[in-house]
Amino acid sequence: MERRDSERARASLLAQRESILEKATPMRNGELEIDRDDSPDEMDVALAESNQSLAGRILERESKLLSRIEEALERLDQGDYGDCASCGEEIGVKRLMAQPAARLCIECKDEQERLESRSD
Ligand SMILES: [Zn+2]
Repeated sequence: MERRDSERARASLLAQRESILEKATPMRNGELEIDRDDSPDEMDVALAESNQSLAGRILERESKLLSRIEEALERLDQGDYGDCASCGEEIGVKRLMAQPAARLCIECKDEQERLESRSD
């Protein structure tokens, strides 16, 4: 991977990390806007609870993505960014520009998704 491509990837990873942290921090602090009446009836409580678990799910997904971003930044520093974690082939600049935290090339990713959808 060319230096200017890896610099672009680094910039976009950092921007992505920034935006996740911006989104996730208020959720972690319980500041996700949950509409609650002053005197909530059962519906509102149920809604608030489901909002809470939605926030939990989003947080879980975001924190997974976050660790992938950290991992990708580490690989950038080590100079092995851009290689597929599964087959070792180059992931390809186009895919990395769209998905800078991608660990797999498109073939391995497709394969993984096939396996995951089967086990669901
Ligand atoms: Zn691969």
